[in-house]
Amino acid sequence: MWIGGEWVEARRGASFESLDPYRDQPWARVPDADATDVDAAVAAARQGLGGPWGGATGAERARLLRRLADICTRDADHLAAVESRDNGKLLREMAGQMAYLPHWFYYFAGLADKLHGEYLPTDKSNFFAYTRPEPVGVVAAIVPWNSPLLLLAWKLAPGLAAGCTFVVKPSEHTPASALELARRIEEAGFPPGVVNVVTASGPGPAQTLVAHEDVDKVAFTGSTAVGIRVGQQALEHLGRVSLELGGKSAQVVLEDADLESAANGVIAGIFAAGGQTCMAGGRLVVHEAVADELVGRVVERARAIRLGDPSSPETEVGPLANVIQLRHVQELVADARAAGAEVLCGGGQPAELGGLFFEPTVVDGAARSARLTQEEVFGPVLAVQRATDEEEAVALANDTRFGLAASVWTRDVHRAHRVAHRLRAGTVWINAYRTVSPDVPFGGMGMSGWGRESGVAAIGDYTETKAVWVELSAQTRDPFVLG
Ligand code: NAD
Repeated sequence: MWIGGEWVEARRGASFESLDPYRDQPWARVPDADATDVDAAVAAARQGLGGPWGGATGAERARLLRRLADICTRDADHLAAVESRDNGKLLREMAGQMAYLPHWFYYFAGLADKLHGEYLPTDKSNFFAYTRPEPVGVVAAIVPWNSPLLLLAWKLAPGLAAGCTFVVKPSEHTPASALELARRIEEAGFPPGVVNVVTASGPGPAQTLVAHEDVDKVAFTGSTAVGIRVGQQALEHLGRVSLELGGKSAQVVLEDADLESAANGVIAGIFAAGGQTCMAGGRLVVHEAVADELVGRVVERARAIRLGDPSSPETEVGPLANVIQLRHVQELVADARAAGAEVLCGGGQPAELGGLFFEPTVVDGAARSARLTQEEVFGPVLAVQRATDEEEAVALANDTRFGLAASVWTRDVHRAHRVAHRLRAGTVWINAYRTVSPDVPFGGMGMSGWGRESGVAAIGDYTETKAVWVELSAQTRDPFVLG
């Protein structure tokens, strides 16, 4: 692990293996931290806040972030290979992600030297005030397995730009890439303790980290159930919290949509990344006038999807990341089937591959209240819901406790914006799906989270505003009256 600028084993000497989901074999061995390692990492991060990092100007922080971005650009292929081995996602998808990841560092480097407070005249002639944006302090960054480094960069980039320090805890399923990134952070020249990485096989150390009184903020991406517990624990010591959680996003296709584009978008939304993405478009809400034609196109393409080795350029969908995921996906499909829904394609494991693979699946007629319609699947399973008009389509799309993402497909510009405004989601794409950028805020409404990552405002999540009052008259005043 990387703590206080040094590479260390877990203090009790324990380690664990990370599995390659495609080969179903261990491929990396990493230290297994306990609470004492977490304490050491938090202490290092606290110390890191002082020293050279505490005294660094915004321009110096920007320079380090740009250097890190350059190094990550140089090593994008290596980082992609590590990610793909660890989580089983397509090498071609991870290569795209790793080539794009440095842009978050470049973008927030551009803000690091432009962070400033305000001059406030106040309503008192003998005072003026000004504000200072100061770093929140020690941040615990806890990330899931599906896009470990990209989601980590969404936290590190604004946090480091603001002058915070970090203790990073990657998922037990994908511990390797955060350590690989730490090597590059070291090479970029960040002072010791600014970023620390602890790896652990179970949730204990993450819980210690969240509950730690010396952690000022928890930046968490993961499931809604765990996110709620994280929020509660952090609140015990008034730690700041941002939560990027699950989703059950709907793609709304109206009767005037370009069906070829919509079918392509629906495929991208649910089958890319094997559906293992928070923003997966797990529900297709389609106008009944075009439902059969659109669903027919989607099923035809879904049947043709090439499953296989994630490192092969021909493969379109790899395995699920772990056996817990596989069981969950199987359970939700079985539940919908038992309640009378029709499985139009897929629905099981491909005989020739087995392992952790699950076929691209389209399910029609699952009830509005069915688990498949309401719960996050995190696998390649699409639930089709039919609507009679725009009103019903919006109502169906919004019939979820989540609110991460949605789309609307229509050729009518009035409708496009009207429906986009009525969809309750942190991101709505019009005639598109699954695109993100460092410039554009991303995050969820409702049970999909708290706060936004990316975009200029994200840096505000890593700063505290300090107000400084300046007395101008040098007079004394009545000490018993509010000034
Ligand atoms: P998870 O909630 O099981 O784990 C996420 C992280 O939390 C892991 O590092 C895990 O070790 C840690 N953790 C587990 N128990 C903990 C506890 N009690 N206290 C503190 N930390 C704990 O999620 P996962 O299965 O790794 O990832 C999939 C989930 O992540 C999905 O629900 C997905 O929608 C969500 N996700 C959300 C976004 C987003 O930006 N909104 C992005 C990607 C994934």
